Amino acid sequence: MKKSLILFALILGVWSINAQELTRQDTLRGSITPERAWWDLNHYDLNVKIEPSKKFISGYNVVRYKVLEEAKTLQIDLQEPMKIESIEQDGKKLKFTSEGNAHFIKLKKKQVLGEFNEVKITYSGQPREAVRAPWDGGFSWKQDKNGNPFVATSCQGLGASVWWPNKDHMYDEVDSMRISVTVPKELMDVSNGQLESVEEIDEFKTYNWVVKNPINNYGVNVNIGNYVHFDEVFEGEKGPLKLDYYVLPENLEKAKKQFVQAPMMLQAFEHWFGPYPFYEDGFKLVEVPYLGMEHQSSVTYGNKFENGYLGRDLSGTGWGLQFDFIIIHEAGHEWFANNITYKDIADMWIHEGFTAYSENLYLDYHFGTKASEAYVVGTRSNIQNDSPIIGTYGVNKSGSGDMYYKGANMLHTLRQLVEDDDKWRQILRGLNKDFYHKTVTTKEIEGYLSKHTGKDLSAFFNQYLRTTMIPNLEYKLEGDEIKFRYTDVVQDFDMPVRVFIDGSEKWLFPNSEWKTEKLDGTQVVFDKNFYIETKKI
Ligand SMILES: [Zn+2]
Repeated sequence: MKKSLILFALILGVWSINAQELTRQDTLRGSITPERAWWDLNHYDLNVKIEPSKKFISGYNVVRYKVLEEAKTLQIDLQEPMKIESIEQDGKKLKFTSEGNAHFIKLKKKQVLGEFNEVKITYSGQPREAVRAPWDGGFSWKQDKNGNPFVATSCQGLGASVWWPNKDHMYDEVDSMRISVTVPKELMDVSNGQLESVEEIDEFKTYNWVVKNPINNYGVNVNIGNYVHFDEVFEGEKGPLKLDYYVLPENLEKAKKQFVQAPMMLQAFEHWFGPYPFYEDGFKLVEVPYLGMEHQSSVTYGNKFENGYLGRDLSGTGWGLQFDFIIIHEAGHEWFANNITYKDIADMWIHEGFTAYSENLYLDYHFGTKASEAYVVGTRSNIQNDSPIIGTYGVNKSGSGDMYYKGANMLHTLRQLVEDDDKWRQILRGLNKDFYHKTVTTKEIEGYLSKHTGKDLSAFFNQYLRTTMIPNLEYKLEGDEIKFRYTDVVQDFDMPVRVFIDGSEKWLFPNSEWKTEKLDGTQVVFDKNFYIETKKI
């Protein structure tokens, strides 16, 4: 591994598949167990008191669900060292058995098909501290420059059950949620959705946040600090959208300058992807003591109020310094992660591939197509082709970090194949409309893209998502002819490529057999927008 690649892996913090053996806990965490399958999440009412001085949290979650099948045992997840104190249904205490982080509740009441029921789980403990937030997450118990507590949660991959009890699998989302967070009264909590009310009792304040849309559980967050607030209104495709910003007082002036990129982001992404998916919940940028995360409607921010990725350009072209990576990338996830959400983390490229791709569409909107092309092609230097993009299903294991920039370059290549930017934009908007607030699989996204591009993309996706091979186009120039074929490709891979012959455009239609074409010129240049390798032999 090259040094620059190690650095990249560290800063992007991607998970790597290792030879670690899969355990029963992985299956309980990562699959739709029978104790999960029979009920459909409807609502969470999460109430949690957070005491930074003790690094201690306590509270309860009321889980409302609809009965899909009659059953007697219900699985709830809560990770050690957090402890369940009691579980109740309709005011009656219930027994449960635990197997590591999975807890199986024995229900007394008959579960009638189609009915809504609630279980209340009361819990407390000192939650896992984040090792390297947001990638190795948990609670970040930090302080600001003035010694005030500055606290935040992050838990993608690890799971929301690291700090609150829930159904910790991505296939099922609640339709709405209430998050009530009690903190020492000199501090403020910022969570997802809209602030409904604040109550003060003795030395504490409770902030009641309401989320009116479906939300994935790793998107739920608490951010606690001595925040100051400013706001503005964005006139978007669905009308006025309130933008709220929460930062530490010492960063207020810097934030007012840097956050002008939030409405610029919304302009670009509403153009390419359609309306912001959570108008009712507003949009927030919230300063945190780590780099950032795509928490739904409360995108967290720690990029030091500078352009680039902590001041770096991930593309090496200069274009990466034209935007604040965390504002653009993390907010891009509102469409691909929060609106369209993977069912299984093995399909995490649906979040990261499309969102890494959104970075160049932001550039395209504000700086033009040449800038966007240079950027996305530049990011290829980060691709390692170490293992496939798709991970292991059913055990909560994501695939290679190539899901970011190989994913982005795969989509950029597809844009070339569609050869009609307006159509491509309608496809991206169509994805966000047809899979609005849904959890999806890679197969569903592949099917959608094949159908709407009018091309059978099975081999294309098999190549880029399921192997580490880059298609290699071998060619020979003989007289006024070009001979060409693909090597390092999966069965049936026959992606056309654009070439320029003495500057004029021509399409070649290679597959793994040698083909011959006549050339009207001598100089052959392959279009660099296609993610392939070429080899003259
Ligand atoms: Zn991301």
